Amino acid sequence: MAKLINNYRFELEEDHHHPGNGIFGVVVLPAEDISPVLPYLNSILNDTTYDHENKILIGSSDKKKYAFRPYEIRAGSITDVSDAPRVAINIVDFVNNVWERRESIKPSIKERKVPAAYDIYKVLPRKNCRQCGCSSCLAFAVKLHAGEIGLDQCRLLTAPEYVPNREKITALFS
Ligand code: SF4
Repeated sequence: MAKLINNYRFELEEDHHHPGNGIFGVVVLPAEDISPVLPYLNSILNDTTYDHENKILIGSSDKKKYAFRPYEIRAGSITDVSDAPRVAINIVDFVNNVWERRESIKPSIKERKVPAAYDIYKVLPRKNCRQCGCSSCLAFAVKLHAGEIGLDQCRLLTAPEYVPNREKITALFS
């Protein structure tokens, strides 16, 4: 069966909120439009947020977060840049594998819109404590909106007094 991604290149993207901290994101840029695979990925990934109309899918697998767009796949953070080619290959293999197995996967176009970063920000603890690695709660909200960070990385949201905030944010994504 033909592969969906035959050619791609990848880039390292420095953490723009903390330039120089040695953490990079891997951005895979397929030559082909991968949007046909998004409903299948939406079916099998965890914690997905899917905007079918605008072809944006955010989801996780093995506790790693990914964001898919027609010509772009963003993967989580790496600290060892020599690891980037392997990360890119693994992502491409994963997408091609799902595409090749698509007849055995029930596609899903169940949509959960990505909430606006400012709507997320409004219900964060807004302590700007930086325990999440972001320079501020707003920076965290922007990253969460873009699928570059997980909600669990805001440590304050695990505290009992912030359970209502966590529930509100979870509701924004449902
Ligand atoms: S850990 Fe939570 S409260 Fe602290 S800066 Fe990050 S988002 Fe804000």
